[in-house]
Amino acid sequence: MPNTLSPTTIFNPTPGWYAGDFHAHTNFSDGVLSPDELVALAQAEGLDFLAITDHNAIGALSAFETSPPRPIVRGIEITLQIGHFNVFGVDSWPDWLAEMLPGETWRERERDWRDSSRMMAMCKAEGWLVSINHPLLTPWEWQDAGTLLSHLDALEIWNDPTWGDNAWANPAAVAYWTRLLNAGYRITALGGSDYHFTNQEPGPYQPRLGLPRTYVYAEQLSAAAILEAVRKQRAYMTMGPTLRFEAQMQDVIHGIGSDLGAVAGELTLTAEASLPHGDGRIQIIKNGEIIAVERGSDGRITVQRQSQLDPAETAWFRCDALDAEGHFLAVSNPIFTGPHLPPAPHTFGEFLADI
Ligand SMILES: [Zn+2]
Ligand SMILES: [Zn+2]
Repeated sequence: MPNTLSPTTIFNPTPGWYAGDFHAHTNFSDGVLSPDELVALAQAEGLDFLAITDHNAIGALSAFETSPPRPIVRGIEITLQIGHFNVFGVDSWPDWLAEMLPGETWRERERDWRDSSRMMAMCKAEGWLVSINHPLLTPWEWQDAGTLLSHLDALEIWNDPTWGDNAWANPAAVAYWTRLLNAGYRITALGGSDYHFTNQEPGPYQPRLGLPRTYVYAEQLSAAAILEAVRKQRAYMTMGPTLRFEAQMQDVIHGIGSDLGAVAGELTLTAEASLPHGDGRIQIIKNGEIIAVERGSDGRITVQRQSQLDPAETAWFRCDALDAEGHFLAVSNPIFTGPHLPPAPHTFGEFLADI
């Protein structure tokens, strides 16, 4: 294994926002590009890191001919007939997984392992992060209504926006995730291009590696630090515009993913985004409701809002940027305030009504 595949290899020691893609396939499952070609494309697209998530396969991670020049988040897209979930941080292929996903085939498992909760629990016991992919995109939507939400570290709310049905499925996933946040779950929203192709697909379908891209605030540029940032919800997804979302209390500025705890006082929330084409808006959300909105055209838009914190009230704040037609351009993970109340145990199906 090239040493740059080690999760602790540091490519940049500086803390900061790093851009990447959490969902991509190579020719070790049903992708077209080799691992080296995919990483070269990620570099050409300006990504700082890339997760490789082949269907039921990990072979790409030991097939590099040259050492990747960027951190590779080692993943698998566990691909079942009842849906797909990514695991991140995979550095082994344990016997139990080999039994579940025998052979080299990447195809969906048809009969067994319908108890996805048990499988997720085993993945988490390995120290991997668990993230359900394209949760509402038919025919690959998550179909195990009984999955315990406590198993989820993350949710892919933003899958390949160039795929037609994602025009509905991605906003629906944002709405679904919003319900989970309101119920007290701190599940990190992620984006993934689900890239399978070359840079030039014939026809109108033009997927692109890094669309959407997910920025994470990592203590350094390494695969381990990227996953630590995901655990802490220090992430936002974007079609291109960079986003700034901060909460200031007295002289301290708290970024995306922060938890201020049960404090009293005035909080100043600031959201800022660039809108590259035409009109649009940026909005701040509190507990699922819009509390501030600002419209604008080309250039950066800033919106600011004060909020009086009640130390007894649990709240979360998020910001979204949308284009003139109301399509999401960027979505942040939350900033939390108030007591952290562990949610009651819920299943995936309990929040699906009328989505
Ligand atoms: Zn999938
Ligand atoms: Zn995929």
